[in-house]
Amino acid sequence: MGGIKKSKKMSQLDYSLASYKRPRLSTPNAEKKLLLHSCCAPCAGEVMEALVASDIDTTIFFYNPNIHPIEEYEIRKNENIRFAKKLGMPIVDVDYDRDEWFQRTKGQENEPERGERCSTCFDMRFERTAQYAADNDFDLISSTLGISRWKDMDQINASGVRSSAPYNIPYWDFNWRKKGGSSRMLELSKREGFYQQEYCGCVYSLRDSNRWRVSRGREKIKRGIKFYQEAKLEVSQDG
Ligand code: SF4
Repeated sequence: MGGIKKSKKMSQLDYSLASYKRPRLSTPNAEKKLLLHSCCAPCAGEVMEALVASDIDTTIFFYNPNIHPIEEYEIRKNENIRFAKKLGMPIVDVDYDRDEWFQRTKGQENEPERGERCSTCFDMRFERTAQYAADNDFDLISSTLGISRWKDMDQINASGVRSSAPYNIPYWDFNWRKKGGSSRMLELSKREGFYQQEYCGCVYSLRDSNRWRVSRGREKIKRGIKFYQEAKLEVSQDG
């Protein structure tokens, strides 16, 4: 009986951008300054709006040397800068040290997505985020990576905790997907007309996405041309 009441109540909840009344979030231990690692505008948009609505002092940290090639990296970065400017949120544009990324992922070229290579990739990005946070008076880090349903949230959170510990900076493992977060992320991407990437980011994810497509008789990915549109909404990969 209780279960029936609960499901009826759940079905009445509307988490869409138009109707959702954003709750006021607080940092886990009243930390004052958050450095938010961002992977791309589509994943970051919903998280950024949630933080603005909560008046949490947030700076975006764009550090993604995994993204290949550089033309793709520039598009994703500039989309994030565009939205950060719109919200008046500071953004730190960090090095594109892809040589270091290739060095660290050596031997993991054929790992599947969500495998060991991804842990290496997350670790590298979070270590740099935590280091910057420690050097610049931030007292908390988090990431937009976990909002994507393509990602393993436990893997991301484990990496965040592991990578930030040596810098004595806590990692906020807030679940940005819950209460419609993933759906609003797509709504917001449509509203903003964000660039829609079709592979996670690295050269190996591009290779594997193309192999998958070709095996199904589809065309290979054409980079740099697809943007979210109001009329046609598709779930994208991100990273
Ligand atoms: S698939 Fe994505 S998360 Fe994994 S290594 Fe490549 S870019 Fe990094």
